[in-house]
Amino acid sequence: MIMRLGLLRAIMIFSVIVVAVIVGAAVFQPARQQASVADTFSRPLTMPVKGVASSNVRDTFDESRGTERKHEATDIVAPRGTPVVAVDDGIIKKLFLSKPGGNTLYQFDPTEQYAYYYAHLDGYAAGIQEGMMVKRGDVIGYVGTTGNAQNTPHLHFGIFKLGPEKRWWEGTPINPYPILMPTSSRTKSPRPAAG
Ligand SMILES: [Zn+2]
Repeated sequence: MIMRLGLLRAIMIFSVIVVAVIVGAAVFQPARQQASVADTFSRPLTMPVKGVASSNVRDTFDESRGTERKHEATDIVAPRGTPVVAVDDGIIKKLFLSKPGGNTLYQFDPTEQYAYYYAHLDGYAAGIQEGMMVKRGDVIGYVGTTGNAQNTPHLHFGIFKLGPEKRWWEGTPINPYPILMPTSSRTKSPRPAAG
């Protein structure tokens, strides 16, 4: 009887450990994947809104928008009509009008591993069209409030790692905030949110 109890106890402890390992793996896997994707992103990017200093941008990646979804992008507030520039060289993959994003633009990086997503644009710059190549710093559009931006003109800027099919609408989000910060300030802790 004592031996059976010991065995039962051993089985119970073993089960708890197995469950803990499975749950732990399930919970921590996405975070670890996201971190590794961000770690491999080594391209320096230009601030996508003209005249905005990096010190005036805050990290809005983990904020919630709407009922449950995470924001997974950086909002850069600027007056309506401020030029939006390409953060990197690459192809304009898609100009798309969506309900949440309004006038949006999807650009691929030169290696076509990442997509840059610009949303709530007031409009596109003259001559911008799908399939054209742009250079870092080229004006591609203007800050606005189209889509669900409500009354605050801002650029919603996202980066995602493309899947093997290279679909412009599909990928793993990466936090643009640390990438947009100057290299020297990347090791500092993020500033508290203003307001
Ligand atoms: Zn946003």
